[in-house]
Amino acid sequence: MTTELLFRDDAYLRSATARVVAVGERGIELDRTVFYPQGGGQMGDTGVLLRANGETIAIADTRKGDALDSVVHVPAPGAALPDVGETVALEIDWARRYALMRLHTALHVLSCVVVAPVTGGNIAPDKARLDFDIDMSLLDAATIERGTNELIVRGIDTQTVWITDAELDTRPALVKTMSVQPPRGAGRVRLLRIPGIDLQPCGGTHVKNVGEIGAIRVLRIRSEGRRNRRVEIALSAPAAG
Ligand SMILES: [Zn+2]
Repeated sequence: MTTELLFRDDAYLRSATARVVAVGERGIELDRTVFYPQGGGQMGDTGVLLRANGETIAIADTRKGDALDSVVHVPAPGAALPDVGETVALEIDWARRYALMRLHTALHVLSCVVVAPVTGGNIAPDKARLDFDIDMSLLDAATIERGTNELIVRGIDTQTVWITDAELDTRPALVKTMSVQPPRGAGRVRLLRIPGIDLQPCGGTHVKNVGEIGAIRVLRIRSEGRRNRRVEIALSAPAAG
């Protein structure tokens, strides 16, 4: 069943109310949600569903469901389950999500400092990484850190733009990530634009202004196979915001 993805239009929504439409082995489906399901390298949200009877259902993870735009809220082991048709209040772990948003947006900036094909990526609340197809000798931690932070400090607003699948096909250079093609099938593709810095398809959650990232540190750069160089970063001030 399709879920209305409230985070797609407003990544800053921490709570909402929704109706339970299915409860299955994988988890709980709602008619709308603020929980981001794991995808595009970004981890799924955690949080709680609050029942009208006062009971709290801890959500340990969020995953994509089988249908397009469907979301499965994975309850923590032993958590109570709601009834289909019931209205619940949703609340994500905002501190965790905001860290994910800052790190996710930081990777967009990083991908413009290290100019090479991206072969993979991952965003966790405490650190994030991008893998590049590049020669190790071209990667210097101090240079990457300085270059990324110089762009962050410009304080540019991010924008979400939608284009059609057909438009994307005419601009293949937009897709930097070789391993993660943008989701197709809905007829249109969501792009993140950081004017003057980056433009690429992305369905994830981002901060409104790159200045919110603060600054990043390069934790390490290491070789992950013959054509894979992994750059791992963390926020300099993880708890800010
Ligand atoms: Zn993104």
